[in-house]
Amino acid sequence: MNNRKTDILIIGAGPSGTVAASMLRQKGYEVTIVEKQKFPRFVIGESLLPRCMDNLELAGFLPALMKAGFQKKQGAKFIAGSESRIYDFSLQFTEGWKWTWQVQRDRFDNILAEEVQKAGVKIRFEAGVTDVKFAAKEHVVTEITHADGEKEHIESRFIIDASGYGRVLPKMLKIEEPSNFPSRCALFAHVENIEFQDPKEPNHILILSHSKNMWGWVIPFSNTRASVGIVGNEEDVMVAGDNFLESYTYWHAHFDPMKSRLKNAKILFPPRKISGYGGSVSKKFGPGFAIAGNSAELVDPVFSSGATYATESGVLVAKLVDKELTGEKVDWQVEYADYLDRGNRVFKTFVSNWYNGDLQKIIYTKQNNDDIKRQICSILAGYVWDESNPIVKKHERAIPALAQILGNEKNLPWEL
Ligand code: FAD
Repeated sequence: MNNRKTDILIIGAGPSGTVAASMLRQKGYEVTIVEKQKFPRFVIGESLLPRCMDNLELAGFLPALMKAGFQKKQGAKFIAGSESRIYDFSLQFTEGWKWTWQVQRDRFDNILAEEVQKAGVKIRFEAGVTDVKFAAKEHVVTEITHADGEKEHIESRFIIDASGYGRVLPKMLKIEEPSNFPSRCALFAHVENIEFQDPKEPNHILILSHSKNMWGWVIPFSNTRASVGIVGNEEDVMVAGDNFLESYTYWHAHFDPMKSRLKNAKILFPPRKISGYGGSVSKKFGPGFAIAGNSAELVDPVFSSGATYATESGVLVAKLVDKELTGEKVDWQVEYADYLDRGNRVFKTFVSNWYNGDLQKIIYTKQNNDDIKRQICSILAGYVWDESNPIVKKHERAIPALAQILGNEKNLPWEL
């Protein structure tokens, strides 16, 4: 059994973990990431938001990412029956990035992992965190188990859980909380040979409204491939029971906006299903630890907010760990948990009003209201912490009120 020391141990080499690692390394800390899988590895979450770019820039990742040739994303195109609306980030209310990327996450996450290693962060791949003991102040002992079964203990001053769907500390500390949203299911794969209906479609995520409770995505990549998925209640999505391929091809053949674009498409790997992915924690921090990214909270995929939340929390946790380890007092509740919750509440309002139909009434309105559109664009771009945006400031009341004003015509192919 080996023992070694590091200043900060991070669980997971996804965007949350690598952003935090890079920021802490910039401050001179010795940082070790323990990552259960071998990279590159598949993970869902391929459509970024412009707000991510601020965080990726702070972490020093942009030069390497700029060279990678990922598909540029300039906005979201919403499609319902024969109606479509484009929300272009260039219109947005908030000063900030007007574009981002659509990325195959195996490549994207691998670039981030390579960059932090170049900066001196050590990554233990194919090693899972199997136990964590909080021995004393600034003394955490983490047990990791390698693929061959060998165990190792790493002592650190602080531990950050960025384990995504693994939710390592939330499970160990029994602080997991269920999502407030009903459990939904996503069935997805990568495809090639899509027939786009206008040359600008590849620069957007396509969000395909099927009904209040069901929607699909097409996320074009730069190499003529795309990620395509369908989301809804499990019994509605899995029309052929547990036959994933048959259920998936059913949607390609029967859901109009998919049908027209995917009739000659080739599916590149057997479709995968993920369900019950939402979740939260009762606390995001404690003595010697903090939880970041998906491990702390995953709301819903409809507005692609996951990687933004992951990188936002990665940047912030790194700043606060540095502050604490240099002897300054940190109010983790106010400076970390409350801040993250404030932005995530805006995403949650958008999600709940998407599924109750109000937000779809606003998105598909035929009325022109440039100010409202700019404010909505900013939220779709991930600038949910900008309280100078009137919709951010009053999101809970604004969306139902705007739906009343803007949604009084029949805009959609189904009753809202
Ligand atoms: P991850 O990227 O999941 O990384 C966590 C890492 O921790 C993994 O590599 C894992 O192997 C490792 N790990 C787990 N357990 C252990 C352990 N015991 N020991 C060591 N390592 C461990 N987000 C978007 O931004 N855009 C989208 O378009 C989008 N679409 C989505 C669609 C669906 C259907 C779903 C369910 C989610 C979607 N998301 C999307 C969310 C996105 O997947 C996540 O928010 C994002 O990956 C979170 O990043 P992270 O760094 O927190 O975790």
